[in-house]
Amino acid sequence: MASDKQDKQFVTEITPQSEDFSRWYIDVIKKAELMDYAPVRGCIVFRPEGYAIWENIQQEMDRRFKETGHRNAYFPMLIPESFFQKEKEHIEGFNPELPFVTEAGGDILEERLAVRPTSETMFGHMYSKWIKSYRDLPVLINQWANVMRWEKRTMPFLRTSEFLWQEGHTAHEDEKDAREETMRMLELYRDFVEDFLAMPVIMGQKTPSEKFAGAVDTYSIEAMMKDGKAVQAGTSHYMGTNFAKAFEIQYLNRDNELEFTHTTSWGTSTRLIGSMIMAHGDDRGLVIPPKVAPTQVILIPIGPPKMRDMVIERADALYAELKAAGIRVSMDDRADVRPGWKFNEYEMRGVPVRIEIGPRDIENGVCLLASRLGGDKLTVQLDNVVNDVKQLLDDVQKGMYERALEFRASHFHSVDNLDEMRAQMEEKRGFFLAGWCGSEACEDTVRAETGATSRNIPFDPQEHKTTCVACGEAAKHTVVFAKAY
Ligand code: AMP
Repeated sequence: MASDKQDKQFVTEITPQSEDFSRWYIDVIKKAELMDYAPVRGCIVFRPEGYAIWENIQQEMDRRFKETGHRNAYFPMLIPESFFQKEKEHIEGFNPELPFVTEAGGDILEERLAVRPTSETMFGHMYSKWIKSYRDLPVLINQWANVMRWEKRTMPFLRTSEFLWQEGHTAHEDEKDAREETMRMLELYRDFVEDFLAMPVIMGQKTPSEKFAGAVDTYSIEAMMKDGKAVQAGTSHYMGTNFAKAFEIQYLNRDNELEFTHTTSWGTSTRLIGSMIMAHGDDRGLVIPPKVAPTQVILIPIGPPKMRDMVIERADALYAELKAAGIRVSMDDRADVRPGWKFNEYEMRGVPVRIEIGPRDIENGVCLLASRLGGDKLTVQLDNVVNDVKQLLDDVQKGMYERALEFRASHFHSVDNLDEMRAQMEEKRGFFLAGWCGSEACEDTVRAETGATSRNIPFDPQEHKTTCVACGEAAKHTVVFAKAY
């Protein structure tokens, strides 16, 4: 057996969060083998451990999209440059981030082809062909794809040059229908992120300076990371008729008159993986919510070599029973690795529940359950183990959400003016609720003076501010400001 010292050394390879949060994040995702850096700037490889998390996110989201009437399709990755010129704000917003294919098959292309940063233009082009009458509406399509934005600042998962995402693009008869869709999908995102990823989010509207290039209104969900910074976890946009006019998506309405459709788009990406890690992880490593964890339970047989066969036989049966009950269980029965090392390893990998089983437990008809959230180990009867494991997974899921909610509540501050905001930000991390007059100049002042940006105008701010934090004039909105990834 190795000493405790060695066990501790293993864990301390991860930089503590309090020392350097970004370093902690990189240490954890690399050590847990979620990703690696790719040879091209800002791009990462999603290794199997990381991709498995994405697959679980995809599967559950996809189920929810289909439940709300959407269908999947796949549109091409290369988009003619001229498509981007059709919507003025869209091209202005995306131009700096667009990579182009200029040469292929040894020839310079007549028209440059953009590698899609988002697909409003391509969907717009195709919708103008497909939509002729009100009978064709609504069109509710989602696509799972990779996109590319030449980002200046990158951070694995949270902001990469190439990332994986889903983008929904819908077309509707009128504003009311399109706005309902915009809100339906924002609410779907909220529910998914809170229920599945155990991250509480703030739903609200983006200020005009932060909205999507080409949108009439942008809405977002914003989550708090453990260093108090914000992550925009998903966005839903009402485009009005902007893209319909640019791409001539017109239809004959019920009175036989030609009208433009109203469109929406909404997206979430592999950023969700990074935010889930930063919202829940601790100094021992990842803490993955059971609903999204590729491995929910790690089963570790324990005991002296002479009892090994007997223990493994019982552990095998237990493994089969848990698997048959639909629990994502793995067993680590390697004889040449110490149990203490395994405990640390799976804690670092964020596995929510560990089961230990040894000769004496088997004799007593029990096994031990340990939660990734800590606390005492539970001794449970082997003949009721499936129920107890399910219960513990449920408790961990709920416990993680509660813990994140408490963290957010204790890092949520309310400020009235810039001096107060600056002073508070020197001492405290987190979100700052403040009044805003509605001018972009005041948003810029807040950013320049504090480094915080407007996250969104929450639908439910808890408290309504009456004066602008920057200029002191009457506030039009109550806004959440925060430093953000
Ligand atoms: P947008 O199309 O800009 O509204 O982006 C949709 C969603 O994709 C955002 O809410 C983010 O969660 C995510 N996202 C945007 N840019 C990136 C990026 N560079 N890397 C990863 N995710 C991103």
